[in-house]
Amino acid sequence: MQGKIIKGIAGFYYVYVVDSGVYECKAKGAFRKDKIKPLVGDDVEIDIISEEEKTGNVISIGPRKSELIRPAVANVDQALLIFATKNPEPNLNLLDRFLCMMEEQDVPVVICFNKDDLVDDDFQKQIRDTYERAGYKVIFTSAKNEEGIDKIKEVLKGKTSTVAGPSGVGKSSIVNLLTEGHSMETGEVSTKIGRGKHTTRHSELLYLGDDTYIMDTPGFSSLFVPKCDPVELYALFPEFIEPEQHCRFGGCVHYKEPGCGVKEAVEKGEIAASRYENYLQIYSEMVQQQNSKYR
Ligand code: GDP
Ligand code: ZN
Repeated sequence: MQGKIIKGIAGFYYVYVVDSGVYECKAKGAFRKDKIKPLVGDDVEIDIISEEEKTGNVISIGPRKSELIRPAVANVDQALLIFATKNPEPNLNLLDRFLCMMEEQDVPVVICFNKDDLVDDDFQKQIRDTYERAGYKVIFTSAKNEEGIDKIKEVLKGKTSTVAGPSGVGKSSIVNLLTEGHSMETGEVSTKIGRGKHTTRHSELLYLGDDTYIMDTPGFSSLFVPKCDPVELYALFPEFIEPEQHCRFGGCVHYKEPGCGVKEAVEKGEIAASRYENYLQIYSEMVQQQNSKYR
């Protein structure tokens, strides 16, 4: 039978088979000889051991479209990043770091600003100016008023998305609205291993029907610093890539160099000031890290 690994704990893999439910499986396939470990998100073939007890063995792993390191999950199509417009105040530095992390792993990001009921249109405009210009899709929602949730469902449809965000932004409220009506399928694992649905530290895929999965990612890495060479950092800011072509000098780091295309774009308002400031901050951290490594 074909299924998808939705969770892995202590050597057990929980495989969801559409219309049949979740099977607790061990890894038994030939892939173990190649030192391949099954990952959450893997499409797998399982042999059923017991239909009553819902147990089985994972016997083969399908080809991986992608493999994300943080969080460790296979076949992710995109990330849904949730921030709040207010309460907590959005930390755009944290947001830009997350975007860098996903750019570095080549994962498209959709940005959701929840608690839209707490701000006026000026806020929306400013955020759209900043992030749509950078090429990101931005969706405003109010989980409280159940507004914008359909737009979220639309971008998730048919895909596997990892959902991340700092605490307090309304992530659980949104995830609960999204999983409404699918609790039968997704609730089963939690019962079996005796944990609440969203209290678990382990990453878990939730099935939303129509070949749509979301991974509710626990925690949020606030300290993320890209691994690339500092000179390459600009490439993780999509709206910097074109202006960078106009930099007068090769190896420009877009800080104090004369004739810098990126700085010009900032002055013309084509790149948001906050994005540029965050770029400079992350850049200097990367240089510091590099220096301490070679000391
Ligand atoms: P999480 O920590 O990100 O999972 O956030 P929760 O879903 O637990 O929500 C945190 C708080 O924000 C709760 O008090 C929610 O009632 C509140 N909240 C969630 N969504 C909204 C919203 O759209 N508007 C407003 N005003 N409050 C919200
Ligand atoms: Zn430059």
